[in-house]
Formats: sequence, C-alpha cells, structure tokens
Amino acid sequence: MDPIEVACNCGAVTARLDAQPLQQFYCHCDDCQRASGSPYVAIALFPAASVRVHGETVAWTLRTLPRHRCPVCGIQIFGEVPGGEIIGIRAERLPPDLFQPAFHIHCRYARLPVQDALPHYAGLPPLFGGNDERVAW
Ligand SMILES: [Zn+2]
Ligand SMILES: [Zn+2]
Repeated sequence: MDPIEVACNCGAVTARLDAQPLQQFYCHCDDCQRASGSPYVAIALFPAASVRVHGETVAWTLRTLPRHRCPVCGIQIFGEVPGGEIIGIRAERLPPDLFQPAFHIHCRYARLPVQDALPHYAGLPPLFGGNDERVAW
C-alpha cells in the first residue's frame, strides 16, 4: 500500500499516513463546532504510530483534544485523541475519494442536520464505548 500524503493549504505542514483509516465519520459535537467554526467536521482516524508529521504545528485544546494547525495558513490538520494511540485527520485534507464516512456521531449537538442514509448516533456509538441511541433525522 502506498502511504497517504496530506498537507495544509500552504505546504508548510505535511503528514504521511502509513495505514488505512481505522474509522471515518462526521462529528457534530460542540467541541468540534467551537474549535473548527463549522457546524460539523469530517474525520478519519489513523493509528498514531502510522502518522508522521513534517513541519511545525500549533496545538490548541478546547477541552481534552489538542488540535493542530499550520502556523502559516492556519488550517486545522489533525487532532490527538486522548490516550495517545489515535490521530484524527481532517477529511478535507485527504486525497479525493479516500473519505468514506460510515456514520455521524454526537448528533444531539447538531446545528445543521445532514440527511443521508448513514446512522446518526445521538452521542458516541457502541464502537466508541457509547450506545445505539439515534436521532430522528
Ligand atoms: Zn500551511
Ligand atoms: Zn467532535
């Protein structure tokens, strides 16, 4: 498998991903909303050991999850999932067609409901230690 290359808008920060995504999804939580300035974010999780970042990033933590930006162009590239074993890459940084989301999480916080055929979990899904509760949309 060829590594996946991602970069910020200006190219000062790049990352090489030597694995396939573990999980891919949309997160509607209020943490992601505030940190990104968007109603929801698209995320692909990778094993931290498979992610090699080149270039300096600036990290900022709203609650528990440090989110790393390029200090030059300001784009958010990845977040460190607490525990240190998982990195969440912002899906818009991935090559086209790689992002294949399987579900939505934290939909109880949604400001812009997305109507599609994917499961819409109210909080965390069973896969992430949560439950199967869904929202109506
Ligand atoms: Zn940049
Ligand atoms: Zn979130």
